[in-house]
Amino acid sequence: MFTIKGKTTDWEVVIGLETHIEVLSNSKIFSGASADYNPTIKPNTQVSMVDAAMPGMLPVLNEYCVEQAIKFGLGINAEISHRSKFARKQYFYPDLPQGYQISQPAEEPPVVGRGWIEIMGDDGNKKKIFIERAHLEQDAAKNKHDMHPSKSFVDLNRSGVTLLEIVTFLDTKNPENNSYISSPDEAERYLREIREIARALGVSKANMEEGSMRADVNVSVRPAGSNEFRTRTETKNMISFKFIKSAIEYEARRQIEIYENGGTVSQDTMRYSQADGTTSVLRSKENALDYRYFPDPDLLPLIITDEQIERIRKTMPELPAATRARYIADYGLKEYDAARLTETTDISHWFDCAVGNKKERGKIIANWMISELFAHPENWDEKNSGKISDDPDAPRIITPSDLAELVDMIAASEINGKQAKEIFIKMLDGETGTPREIADKFGMKQITDTAAIERVIDEIIAANPSQVEQYKSGKVGLLGFFVGNVMRATGGQANPAVVSEMMKSKLN
Ligand code: ADP
Ligand code: MG
Repeated sequence: MFTIKGKTTDWEVVIGLETHIEVLSNSKIFSGASADYNPTIKPNTQVSMVDAAMPGMLPVLNEYCVEQAIKFGLGINAEISHRSKFARKQYFYPDLPQGYQISQPAEEPPVVGRGWIEIMGDDGNKKKIFIERAHLEQDAAKNKHDMHPSKSFVDLNRSGVTLLEIVTFLDTKNPENNSYISSPDEAERYLREIREIARALGVSKANMEEGSMRADVNVSVRPAGSNEFRTRTETKNMISFKFIKSAIEYEARRQIEIYENGGTVSQDTMRYSQADGTTSVLRSKENALDYRYFPDPDLLPLIITDEQIERIRKTMPELPAATRARYIADYGLKEYDAARLTETTDISHWFDCAVGNKKERGKIIANWMISELFAHPENWDEKNSGKISDDPDAPRIITPSDLAELVDMIAASEINGKQAKEIFIKMLDGETGTPREIADKFGMKQITDTAAIERVIDEIIAANPSQVEQYKSGKVGLLGFFVGNVMRATGGQANPAVVSEMMKSKLN
């Protein structure tokens, strides 16, 4: 249990996340304009009359975005509402030409209702995190202040792009139900899981660096062991796991200090400063915005049928939680490694291809991927597209079958681990051919001929009488010294396991 030491008592934190993911779709939620607003696209070129809020324009709901929301809802084990509405959430901001954002009303069921996902809790056990709702809404445009010293600009390309906002649930009526996030690490694991589900389903890139995923962080504290929910603050628009964790921790300590000095926390909206990791009040409760939600008169209620839900359910791929469970059960992977291999479906597919139908390869391939391949993103194609560049200077792409062959060669004692590493490095350096061809070309073969190894062992023993004496009088740690010498004398080509066994029996 994550706690923070106070002056007289320990404190625990209660966390609620409102996560926005940008829905992948060709066009925007209520217009036919392209939803691609990446920075290389000229500002204000992907804008329809609807997105520019020209008077009298009518929004038309994008059915594909609704399907994406349903898909995500099924991915988080949620109820899908058969009927939900769109409402206008009103506020003024220069990047919001309508003067309101079309969202789904806060007080009524949105398209995705109550659901849950599972993460690893801080105690190492699986923990359910309940989700209250996920609703569809429009993204705002983008203000640009840094292009001209005295002018600000608005780029409407992002105006009207589809967002899905996912809100975690806090069961205030049953405070003993602890299915909510209660530490900075759990917050990160929750966000990673949301990200992986969204990616596996193709619902969103859910990439914080690129801005396709961001979160508002609600935090309150209470004395450890108590069941009360105290006043929370909300820190807006967080865009990295690291900052989110730091903001939670800072905000919790700030609140604890207030309580310990006899004060009360007010329900403020906070801003996080990346420069010094602090939070400060953006607006206080007294100045809380009254959005005056009201049903959008231009949009009919959203009706979803069981047939539609079932049709989408049939297209659901294996979700990351199931893939991870499969890797752990079939290959004995650690939870953490399984998580690395399921960060995207492309990665897990690459891994599945490399393992093929040889289960025994699973663990060692996972190790090679995580410790070697991931360190060289330029040398592998996550998508395993099979594309080989025509450019002779392009880096060599290591394929699933390359890695499978390398691993099989070790398993068959054709080469040892050190030689495998050398072959791998040669591939990184652009050497073409399969690992076996490279081994042949460079004469890398493991010596398993015991007579040859024995000759070298005898030489090493003869050359180191004092070490032999010490070994015999109990310093068995010297075995490594002898094995190392044999390996060096054979140019690293001997099988270290065989050398070690033979050396032991000789010395005894
Ligand atoms: P609002 O309508 O003001 O945005 P919500 O009820 O939608 O508030 O809650 C927003 C988020 O804050 C939810 O994830 C919710 O679980 C969380 N939350 C609510 N109360 C608390 C609290 N006391 N401590 C921490 N998080 C909270
Ligand atoms: Mg809310």
